[in-house]
Amino acid sequence: LLALPTAAFMIQDQEVLAAEMERTFIAIKPDGVQRGLISEIITRFERKGFKLVGIKIMVPSNGFAQKHYHGLKERPFFNGLCNFLSSGPVVAMVWEGEGVIRYGRKLIGTDPQKSEPGTIRGDLAVVLGRNVIHGSDGPETAKDEISLWFKPEELVSYTNNAEKWIYG
Ligand code: ADP
Repeated sequence: LLALPTAAFMIQDQEVLAAEMERTFIAIKPDGVQRGLISEIITRFERKGFKLVGIKIMVPSNGFAQKHYHGLKERPFFNGLCNFLSSGPVVAMVWEGEGVIRYGRKLIGTDPQKSEPGTIRGDLAVVLGRNVIHGSDGPETAKDEISLWFKPEELVSYTNNAEKWIYG
């Protein structure tokens, strides 16, 4: 091990760090897209210091929406929810950063009526069924949702020069 050049350690360290960096799936729902909130929502994640590693716009089919929301299929609002998600363009994204799954949910808020001002749903939405944004609720969901919406080659790994100022 001691015979390895320092650079190899550095590269290895960076790879370890990159592998451990958390990713979450975030989607701007059809209401957010129609209301012109794409840049507003991206700005909030971007200025926090999270890193965009995947993005596309697509109209999910109803079947695709059902796959995305499969965990909610027993709920009475399931069909309406899937019809809504597939009713127009959705901006699908993967954001990366330390704690991005949990903190992404904080940026998003919960029920628009209960969310604090300062959160996306608190500031930009009024009712539960039109809450402009989706974010993975945990590490397992994040993994599943990222692989449902993105092929591995659609995601990029890169160093952002601001990272040393964000993470120290
Ligand atoms: P979240 O998106 O905050 O993680 P859930 O996973 O509980 O919320 O629900 C998924 C989505 O289903 C919500 O974002 C919302 O659009 C919709 N939804 C949840 N509850 C209701 C409801 N009671 N009536 C209509 N739509 C609902």
